[in-house]
Amino acid sequence: MELYLPSTINEIKQRHNFELSKSLGQNFITDRHVLESIVEGAEIGEKDLVIEIGPGIGVLTAEAAKAAAKVVAIEVDKRLIPILADTLADYDNIEVINQDILKTDVNEIIQKAREAGEFSGAVRIIGNLPYYITTPIVMKLLESGVECDSITVMMQKEVADRIKSGPGTKAYGAISVAVQYYCTVSKVADVPKEVFVPRPKVDSAVLNLKARKSAPAELKDMSLFFECIKAGFGKRRKTLLNSMTGVRGMTKDDVKEVLEAAQIECSRRAETLSIEEFANIANLAADQNK
Ligand code: SAM
Repeated sequence: MELYLPSTINEIKQRHNFELSKSLGQNFITDRHVLESIVEGAEIGEKDLVIEIGPGIGVLTAEAAKAAAKVVAIEVDKRLIPILADTLADYDNIEVINQDILKTDVNEIIQKAREAGEFSGAVRIIGNLPYYITTPIVMKLLESGVECDSITVMMQKEVADRIKSGPGTKAYGAISVAVQYYCTVSKVADVPKEVFVPRPKVDSAVLNLKARKSAPAELKDMSLFFECIKAGFGKRRKTLLNSMTGVRGMTKDDVKEVLEAAQIECSRRAETLSIEEFANIANLAADQNK
């Protein structure tokens, strides 16, 4: 059964009396090459554990299971669980968990699989992400310190471009700094909207995120770093002097002192700052807050 074929998807929908849910971001892949590019981009090896977010009817799950030692797929829609039991019946190395990824302890899953001797290689997170919660999913994985070697996920092209962009570009924002603090980012593929059913309004892209071996800057207070990023980009047209005022109760004079100590002009805007400069500001603000 070729799960990616639109005719198969239709047949499954009819057989299981299933209607796709728009609110759960159910846009299914109908192109074999896209599946291959995710599996290859994720560099899945035969000893690896794959954690898939949002398996849908299991099209990517099956491809990953052919390449990996074990696949754990996390799907929130309970209507898909009997369908997955049907479509993935030929595989004995897949486990489906009916859960919301935002409420899932991914490290616990990894630890359980390791203790059970189900894999001895790397941990790869993959998925064609539900677009309505792409950013919360990515940030949750990073901020919760998931012990994985890579995250290879499809998302809206616009979000992928934002995550990947650097200082001085229009797309550069809080999500770029936050993700790039934890990871190196590379694009695996651009994916046109025509390859999904139903067809979304926008194109997609697959990104590969690899955990950095060491952070680009040491932080004295991680949450203050993120508060500075959010404040800076929240009012991105304002100068740093204005956008940073109020962060952790800092007055204009406090911000001025921090920026001067960091040798950053008060008139600059957040979109011009590197990760290291944000870190420097956050560290000096942390010293001032003591
Ligand atoms: N992997 C399939 C494919 O590529 O054809 C489906 C991808 S579809 C874009 C997103 C999937 O994520 C859907 O199956 C949807 O039900 C599931 N999903 C949505 N919200 C979720 C959540 N909070 N936790 C886990 N899965 C979720």
